[in-house]
Amino acid sequence: MYYADLTPCSYGSGRESPLIPEKWQVPLLAVGWLDRGHGHPQGEAPPELRPALLEMIESARSLFSHLGYRGLHTCSFCLADGVTERIATSRVNLLIPGDGVVWAATGGILHYLDAHAYLPPQPFIEAAVACPEYGSPAWFAALTETNAGVQPPVRLTSDWLAELRARPAARKES
Ligand SMILES: [Zn+2]
Repeated sequence: MYYADLTPCSYGSGRESPLIPEKWQVPLLAVGWLDRGHGHPQGEAPPELRPALLEMIESARSLFSHLGYRGLHTCSFCLADGVTERIATSRVNLLIPGDGVVWAATGGILHYLDAHAYLPPQPFIEAAVACPEYGSPAWFAALTETNAGVQPPVRLTSDWLAELRARPAARKES
């Protein structure tokens, strides 16, 4: 699935998917949905971006497994080189509060950073690095605030809440 960076992201279907622009009060913008047929900005991302994304992806994988996103994505760049390995993180999608926008990033972004020198848009980098612990009440509150005070279209499941309660103290204060 390809979306140009900074364009509306509409992914998945049905009531469960939060990746539907109409469900948000502010623009829901895509980041990292790359495809070989389209150019992408390359460069060196700040070193704090990768660990921030990795932590978010791991949290999202456990907290939002109920969303049942579509399967794993095969990287079109790697495929062109004859490598058909699928991107393990591509099942996960991230919702990151930004400045007047919500960023919808594919978990596959990690692979694009590592293997294809992808440089995401600067406002996204800043939002990702500043994001409260993913899935935490602080994250939910930040999403709500960005979303003009309206609760975001993310369903809180009992498993999700139980896991939050069982977590050690948040690693990131915010
Ligand atoms: Zn690749």
